[in-house]
Amino acid sequence: MSGAPNPDIQVLSTLNADGSRRWLKPKVSPGRFLNRRRAVGYTLIAFFCTIPHLRIMGKPPILLDLMHREFTFFGVTLYPTDTLLFALLMLSVFLSVFFLTALFGRVWCGWGCPQTIYLEFVYRPIERFFEGAPGRKAKQGAWRKPAKLVTYLLVSFFLANTFIAYFVGTDNLFKWMTGSPFTHPVGFLVMAITTFLMMFDFAFFREQVCIVACPYGRFQSVMLDRNSLIITYDEKRGEPRGKKKRAAKAEGDVSLKVLPDEQAQGDCIDCKMCVTTCPTGIDIRDGLQLECVNCAQCIDACDAIMDKIGRPRGLIRYGSQAAVIDGKKSRILRPRTMIYPTIITGLLSAFTFVLLTRAPAYISILRQRGAPFALLEDGSVVNAVTVKVQNRRPEDTEYAFELVDVDGGVVEISGEAFVVEPQETLGRPMLLKAPGSSFPTGERDVTIRVTDEAGYTKDVKYRMIAPVYKPTQTKESSDG
Ligand code: SF4
Ligand code: SF4
Repeated sequence: MSGAPNPDIQVLSTLNADGSRRWLKPKVSPGRFLNRRRAVGYTLIAFFCTIPHLRIMGKPPILLDLMHREFTFFGVTLYPTDTLLFALLMLSVFLSVFFLTALFGRVWCGWGCPQTIYLEFVYRPIERFFEGAPGRKAKQGAWRKPAKLVTYLLVSFFLANTFIAYFVGTDNLFKWMTGSPFTHPVGFLVMAITTFLMMFDFAFFREQVCIVACPYGRFQSVMLDRNSLIITYDEKRGEPRGKKKRAAKAEGDVSLKVLPDEQAQGDCIDCKMCVTTCPTGIDIRDGLQLECVNCAQCIDACDAIMDKIGRPRGLIRYGSQAAVIDGKKSRILRPRTMIYPTIITGLLSAFTFVLLTRAPAYISILRQRGAPFALLEDGSVVNAVTVKVQNRRPEDTEYAFELVDVDGGVVEISGEAFVVEPQETLGRPMLLKAPGSSFPTGERDVTIRVTDEAGYTKDVKYRMIAPVYKPTQTKESSDG
């Protein structure tokens, strides 16, 4: 029947022809890239676990405080009012990803992504420890699998809590962890769900994240070009592939290493080591595929084979399609690698300018809930407000308040000056008082001047409200 699925075509490297999951247990291929990736991976894990415990001006270097909508990056806190800064930062990040991908392909996936790093350098080693390495005899013992899962759970719990610390801070997290779940039901639920998701991801879902879930992989086709650095199989050198022994016998030779260079057969001996070591289960010899996470395991595997058969390393190597496949020189300078950095530089300059010229405080005046105004015996009107000050200076700062440009009668503000800690927001209740006669329309504007000791001054307008003034108005007449 036309259009029926063909079971012989592999649609996904992690699916069997019958649609069931093809579980991957990639072999470890020791080599120079694995050593370097391990060093980078464990360093990043150490950073990830340490950062929430460090403090810069009293705050962690990275704190994405969703509850208070404050986002701190190395001493700079962005607030919901910093829309322009957020926009500039996000655009710079996205364009930097485009730029790095255009230059170095999916280097992030293989070398920096937590998904790859945890899976390859934490969870898979635990699996090999308990169950044995793929391709070797499995370790015996019914206890091994449960022990592996318990270890996964403990590691997931630790990593999940570290992850949550980036959003709530270690102090809050410690309270959640040491308190009863009934005291912090939401915190407990967040911890439980994050641990479960970590466990589900690294014990079960694994490479599927890269293959079917991660949007970054899907965008590769638009972010890469033929000059981008990727991991490539040198088809010209490797093909036609085949076992060397058979070729050697056919030519009457006995040694793999002395096969003449000019023979018709390519360097690939079709040992499939590059396939069995691939964590996403693909064959790099089929060309660039979106499943390839640039982990370089196939390079290490193939280099070891080339060493064995006495051929030069690099049958699979880092290189651009232009260089390896087309035989041309890779071009670093090309439109996209020049336009991206130009725009990124502009965005970061704008970000720095806006950040440096940002007001050192953000003031807001909120009407208090409940009774919006009160009438006093003498006919004057009082409005209760909350004055909120966000201190963006790096030191404790005292703020004072006064009323200015008062028309239509004397207005008073009651509320002492107060000190706000760096990068904190503090709200204090205050009373604004004005004669009832200054409300002929039931409302009037007043200006509150906020000053700090370092010379910052901000005039904030506020609209006071009251009943429409009648010349005979007193509290009694109003009540009556
Ligand atoms: S590891 Fe190298 S020699 Fe072996 S199949 Fe892969 S490309 Fe060919
Ligand atoms: S093809 Fe090579 S670089 Fe790509 S994911 Fe597989 S082993 Fe890693």
